[in-house]
Amino acid sequence: MSIKYALVTGGSRGIGRAVCLKFSQLGIPVIIGYHSNTKAAEEVRDTILQNGGTAETLRFDVGDKAQVEAALGSWEQNHPQDYIAYLVNNAGIARDNLMFMMTDEDWDAVMNTSVNGMFYVTRYLLPQMMARGRGGRIVNMSSLSGLKGLPGQSNYCAAKAAMIGATRALAQETATRNVTVNAVAPGFITTDMTSELPEEELKKMIPMKRFGKPEEVAELVAFLCSDNAAYITGEVISINGGLY
Ligand code: NAP
Repeated sequence: MSIKYALVTGGSRGIGRAVCLKFSQLGIPVIIGYHSNTKAAEEVRDTILQNGGTAETLRFDVGDKAQVEAALGSWEQNHPQDYIAYLVNNAGIARDNLMFMMTDEDWDAVMNTSVNGMFYVTRYLLPQMMARGRGGRIVNMSSLSGLKGLPGQSNYCAAKAAMIGATRALAQETATRNVTVNAVAPGFITTDMTSELPEEELKKMIPMKRFGKPEEVAELVAFLCSDNAAYITGEVISINGGLY
């Protein structure tokens, strides 16, 4: 019998870590994708194993097509019966600057991680999800920035908006194969990515007067991956404490 796995890119820290732990609580075996922070990825894996779950780490740069294909190919070789039924394209970085001062490197790095990363990983996994009798769930981690635009983040906003466009298109391509594709758009969530921000100032703008927790985003991702969400596809769901 084939076992359905979840792959969470950027599963070593922040929102992705919380999603890995949530999947594991639901009894779903987890692949913790990460870029370079082996210690953090192994901490997530060990936490899941200690709680009786199934988890493994998989190191690859989502923005490097050769690494994506090599890592996922080797996973498939080690799991000939199994397949990845749940994909969370969560890996992402921010390199903020005003556009007139933004370097090519900062533009390219952000676009490459979020947009090309989503493309390379999703394209590789689609055939196995769409195979007859299977199905799957894809959740793309966008952002409030991709919906409204924030000054100083033109690269990040462009990347997160591109993820929404791809989500809506792909949802229509895969609908008859029971593969749903949705995007989640968090506002400010307490993670390493937001640790340098002036939280006390920013909280005043948020109707709920606080940052969100990674676990709150993980609950939403888990719902979108559940059987109960089978008829939701091509959607973007905000989770932002009322900040629009
Ligand atoms: P984070 O704490 O900075 O963690 C980023 C994760 O992405 C890490 O696991 C990192 O792996 C991985 N990663 C980065 N570049 C990668 C690459 N090239 N290849 C593979 N993995 C890579 O970030 P976060 O705050 O949890 O954010 C997660 C996602 O949510 C991102 O897409 C972010 O844009 C989005 N988001 C966050 C917020 C927020 O307020 N935090 C709001 C809206 C959207 P390593 O540990 O190996 O470095």
